[in-house]
Amino acid sequence: MYSIGVDVGSVAAKAVVFDGEKIVAREIIPTGWSPKESGEKLFEIVKSMAEIEKHQIKSIVGTGYGRVALSFIDRKITEITCHGKGAHFLDPSIRTVIDIGGQDSKAIKLDDKGNIIDFLMNDKCAAGTGRFLQVMAHALEIDISQLSQIGEGATPETISSMCTVFAESEVISLMASGASKEGIAAGLLQSVCSKTYTLVSKVGIQDKVFFSGGVSKNSLLKEFLSKKLGVEVFSSELSQYLGAIGAAVIGYGV
Ligand code: ADP
Repeated sequence: MYSIGVDVGSVAAKAVVFDGEKIVAREIIPTGWSPKESGEKLFEIVKSMAEIEKHQIKSIVGTGYGRVALSFIDRKITEITCHGKGAHFLDPSIRTVIDIGGQDSKAIKLDDKGNIIDFLMNDKCAAGTGRFLQVMAHALEIDISQLSQIGEGATPETISSMCTVFAESEVISLMASGASKEGIAAGLLQSVCSKTYTLVSKVGIQDKVFFSGGVSKNSLLKEFLSKKLGVEVFSSELSQYLGAIGAAVIGYGV
């Protein structure tokens, strides 16, 4: 038997198929304008990837901001709970999860069973989220996936505005004054690092720290966070799937 976890985020929809021991299929697609349509499409994709039929599915759990739009799921569970269970499944020694997605960032403190002890979420402002980096990458005329590589080894420019709109103006002024793309990229990642540090500090930093969400693909930001927090920050190729994994694990009842 299998369970399926579907995490429909603000930017990306992620789904995994779980057989009670391991993830046997996973996929990610853009959420687009309709969380309902992308969720349904993704469900069909992972079902066929895993080559399973409806009767082999014991539970389908939805999470993420778009979960309310999904009619094919059995249960809806909050992202925070799913991230906790997903992290515990990947590595039971994880005690702090830093999640930076398309439109929000979270710091979650876990106990030794993956239950939530405390959490904080910034979903009021784009600063410190993937959206912030996307806007800045656009201003620098690069892809968001290049930010890390471009900023590597550069002396960071100071980006003093926290607000995305003002920071974009600041980036444009820096470019006009001859600052390098490399220095600006590093400065932008430092800015996200500081904002994240403030959030995590309020929850309390406890080893082992795991970085999830699409922004965790940025290895330079992970490096900056490790330095600032004073502990190594880990991530994995499954980092963006953490919510979907937690949903599937809860659905399986393990
Ligand atoms: P959500 O659940 O809110 O949809 P995700 O956790 O799936 O968000 O992350 C999506 C975000 O990840 C994108 O909006 C983008 O900003 C960011 N992202 C994707 N790839 C990269 C990358 N290589 N480096 C940094 N950020 C990235």
